[in-house]
Amino acid sequence: MKLLPIFKYHPNPIVTGMIIESNAICPVCEEQTDHVYVGPFFSIDEVEDICPWCIENGQAASKFNGEFQDSASCEEISNKEKLDELVHRTPGYSGWQQEYWLYHCDDYCTFVDYVGWKEIKGIAHELTEDFNRYGYSEEEIKDYLKKDGSLQGYLFQCITCKKHRLHIDCD
Ligand SMILES: [Zn+2]
Ligand SMILES: [Zn+2]
Repeated sequence: MKLLPIFKYHPNPIVTGMIIESNAICPVCEEQTDHVYVGPFFSIDEVEDICPWCIENGQAASKFNGEFQDSASCEEISNKEKLDELVHRTPGYSGWQQEYWLYHCDDYCTFVDYVGWKEIKGIAHELTEDFNRYGYSEEEIKDYLKKDGSLQGYLFQCITCKKHRLHIDCD
């Protein structure tokens, strides 16, 4: 079995469930694989079963002219190379609504996992600004934010300073 590629902005796609075991044929390299991507891919064609290696080398995005994360739904940073790596060569994640990718220290954050209050209570002090940005108090987050719940959290972490950030949406 080949080792899975390392994605800078999505280091644990197995944990997040965006890459799963499967023996499907990848539509990009047309070879049988042992893992496939099951997250969003925005392209004109319906494309399924992309292998992780065709994400990493950019072949999936270029063959189908697609994006794994909508480039219009990323916080803005100055470096276009980083945007290119994020939307064309990084597995995305599945939100209830439009996925949004957060940044910190002038780079995109890593996507850590889907979270609720239980998962973030130990680091809630780092996330106060994000709660407020979405119009929630910490009390409301404590009461309503649940992993796989109607109010869902998406946890990110800064690559440089390790601060956590949170995106929130509802079904
Ligand atoms: Zn492939
Ligand atoms: Zn930072």
